[in-house]
Amino acid sequence: MPNNFNTTTLPAASEGIAFPHLTPRDLEQLRPFGTPCSYEDGQVIFSAGDAATDLFIVESGAMEILNPAQDNRSVVTHGPGQFSGDIDLLTRRPPLVTGVARGRTQLMRIDGVRIRELLNKVPHFGEILLGAAVERRRLLLETGAVGLKVVGPGKCRDTMLVREFLFKNFVPFIWHDSVSEEGQRLMTSWGSPTHSPVIEFGNGRRLINPSLRDVALTAGVWRDCPSDAVDLVIVGAGPAGIAAAVYAASEGVSTVVLDRLGPGGQAGASSRIENFIGFPNGLSGNELATRGVLQMLKFGARMVAPVVVNQIDSAEGPDGFHTLHLDCGTQLRTRTILAATGVSWRQLGVEGSDRFESAGVHHACTSVEAGLYDNQDVAVVGAGNSAGQAAMFLSECCRTRTVHLLVRRRLGKDMSDYLVGRIHSSPNILVHEGVEVAGIHGERRLESLTLQEFNPNRGEPANHENGTQTIPVSAVFVFIGAEPGGAWLPDAVARDALGYVLTGVDALKSGRWPLTTREPCPLETTVPGILAAGDIRSGSTKRVGFAVGDGSLAVTCVHKLTAIRQ
Ligand SMILES: Cc1cc2nc3c(=O)[nH]c(=O)nc-3n(C[C@H](O)[C@H](O)[C@H](O)COP(=O)(O)OP(=O)(O)OC[C@H]3O[C@@H](n4cnc5c(N)ncnc54)[C@H](O)[C@@H]3O)c2cc1C
Repeated sequence: MPNNFNTTTLPAASEGIAFPHLTPRDLEQLRPFGTPCSYEDGQVIFSAGDAATDLFIVESGAMEILNPAQDNRSVVTHGPGQFSGDIDLLTRRPPLVTGVARGRTQLMRIDGVRIRELLNKVPHFGEILLGAAVERRRLLLETGAVGLKVVGPGKCRDTMLVREFLFKNFVPFIWHDSVSEEGQRLMTSWGSPTHSPVIEFGNGRRLINPSLRDVALTAGVWRDCPSDAVDLVIVGAGPAGIAAAVYAASEGVSTVVLDRLGPGGQAGASSRIENFIGFPNGLSGNELATRGVLQMLKFGARMVAPVVVNQIDSAEGPDGFHTLHLDCGTQLRTRTILAATGVSWRQLGVEGSDRFESAGVHHACTSVEAGLYDNQDVAVVGAGNSAGQAAMFLSECCRTRTVHLLVRRRLGKDMSDYLVGRIHSSPNILVHEGVEVAGIHGERRLESLTLQEFNPNRGEPANHENGTQTIPVSAVFVFIGAEPGGAWLPDAVARDALGYVLTGVDALKSGRWPLTTREPCPLETTVPGILAAGDIRSGSTKRVGFAVGDGSLAVTCVHKLTAIRQ
């Protein structure tokens, strides 16, 4: 039986998880949810790019899965007791592959909208399906040839944004630089469009330099623009927002999560998080986000991205509804809002750096950014864990390059010991202490940085000619402190001197808490019913584990507020 995964060489554990066989007892439990259907040999069961598809379980015969991104090469063939689908079954997105009957085939078809019900009512099958979904997607991605085609210049802001959006929203894609042979071949076959990036979807539809919303709609990513009243709206799908959504939805709170780009937040920009409990070997931010999102969807939370909250009309009274005006065109009413919009990284602030933003100057370091600079020397600016991780990732993924780590003072105080040790023993990381970036140079692409001495005593640059040096690099990854992302919140939400949101006791102490009948709950801001969690909150520890804890605690607040209102 031909198949692209070559299951004969897969480790038995992986094959068992990705392609399990349901027992006759499992099938009996599932029958009340499905309807029987039959297909003749060669008949298409579902096609790549179709609207969100249903779950198909083979009762007899076989279902072959074909990959249109590889000229319909066979991926795998499911026999009796096996089933179709990967994580798109849960995210309700168009499938990436096509299913065709082999021989006369009897199937059990379960409507996609009933899958969440199934996961919760038949948890044993839920476990099998979720495990298979994640493992199949992993195997499919490993083939390196699945999903949308994106062609555009690597060091171009629009192409980077589309790639970042697809990566964050776990939409598989194959990117070809427009100067590569394959990129040029595709562009010619598409009539040589004058603008880029160009994206070709599974159903053959093409978009030229589209907005993210158009990409999202065509790829079937979070199509919903919600307008119904819900118990909880979470703005920001980083670790705090996703954790809150998992707990809230699992406890029956109707929950919508909004993000301007997609799930993951800053953690999604990390290639490896090593200090999150339960993952001794570390995990990438994208993996953490994928698992968290599947978990919250399983419990019935809804996710919308890309979407921006333009304005909030605060509730008139303590029990009223807040109205969020969304840039996708609707208004969303809710009694409780959780602000989990974290922080965004500070810009380098050096003349000319704007020109290279996302095209040489980056604030994330995942495979998307790193892949642009294979074998090229790069710089990382910053002395915290984020900078340390980026330096390690860039050094490990290409041993022949030099990674210049630029820190204003000395390396150590703001970085975990384990990272400092690894950096010092990495042969291709060069640490420059006591320097800062004074200039950024290049014509069409970033070519070099000027470094100048930093005077730690005066807290300002030494600013003398002798203290400068130029290093040739193709990119600089900047992790130099953050700004809280609360500009969208009403002015009545009190902030500390740095702009972080005050909650609980601090909100009360600010003197701006408006109610005399009760005190704010621990994560409530100075506007009753608006909560804040994670990095955006004044006094929080800026780490994944703390953001997750904060997000979970926010749900206790939601319950308290609901009880008070009743
Ligand atoms: C490269 C890097 C590596 C890191 N590594 C580690 C590590 O190893 N261990 C560790 O513990 N911590 C690490 N951190 C820190 C950790 O990622 C953060 O503390 C954590 O992500 C904070 O979570 P959060 O949910 O509060 O906010 P964020 O992660 O910042 O998420 C905020 C979300 O809100 C969205 N958003 C912002 N504004 C709006 C708006 N107006 N409308 C809609 N959505 C909006 C954003 O798109 C984002 O998805 C790292 C950070 C970075 C950048």
